[in-house]
Amino acid sequence: MKMEDKKRRDFIKQIAGLGVLGIAATAGIYFAPKLKADEAILRPPGAVEEDAFLDLCIKCGQCLQVCPYDSIFLEGVKGGASMGMAYIDPTKRGCYLCEAFPCILACPTGALDHESDTIDKVHMGMAVIVNENACLALKKENVPSKAIDKIYDHTKILSKKEHREHKVIMRGDESEKEELQKKLLQKLENFRDKSCTICADLCPFTPNPQDAIGMVSKNGGLIPQIREACVGCGACVELCPTQVLKVVPNATYEDIYGKGKQNG
Ligand code: SF4
Ligand code: SF4
Ligand code: SF4
Repeated sequence: MKMEDKKRRDFIKQIAGLGVLGIAATAGIYFAPKLKADEAILRPPGAVEEDAFLDLCIKCGQCLQVCPYDSIFLEGVKGGASMGMAYIDPTKRGCYLCEAFPCILACPTGALDHESDTIDKVHMGMAVIVNENACLALKKENVPSKAIDKIYDHTKILSKKEHREHKVIMRGDESEKEELQKKLLQKLENFRDKSCTICADLCPFTPNPQDAIGMVSKNGGLIPQIREACVGCGACVELCPTQVLKVVPNATYEDIYGKGKQNG
């Protein structure tokens, strides 16, 4: 392994432990100019390399308008040079890897590359376990109701009644967007006050989520294991009831876990 690669890998492991904000604070100093602070931002699927993205994104918001999950935000003033550009904050809403990647197709400039519109070409980052001891599956604890309720706040499509009562009502005349978001909440409801395997069961990677994440035995309980196919969509980060996971933007499996190694 080249020294530069090793340094990058060690660095990514270090920032994975610090969390996403830590990446931004540290990366610019330690790795400049190769790994800049703004590379720590999770971009929508299909995003070109960060420098090119900064040149190409015209802040039009087309991608977020077509996103059925409301996963994309535009950076605020704190974004500095990239203010107004598209990003994903998986603590608020992950990306659900729509089959046809409407966000990519909607991008008029190629900031989201139209050639990267299938799952095998999308790579946003890599999930990492940052707070193993909080994992409910490891502790053999049930998912608290309030953790499921919290995800209702992440969606804008619910009626006041549905939101207030944390109940999904299917009317039969939903738009595709409403239907998708309601179906996600219905899947999540299966875990209310039950044992947790949310991250592995609701990972949207296709065709086989188990290629991206699975549950493995540990200390008499279970713990998620991140696998090579993970694309860093952040759905598991959003849905985990106890903030066990993070996504390191742009990182590869090898960056985090090393070649051929298993985690978990
Ligand atoms: S793939 Fe779908 S959920 Fe993900 S950002 Fe694009 S439109 Fe939104
Ligand atoms: S494990 Fe699945 S849900 Fe989590 S970031 Fe990877 S692909 Fe997305
Ligand atoms: S979502 Fe996954 S990581 Fe989070 S508590 Fe449940 S099993 Fe553990």
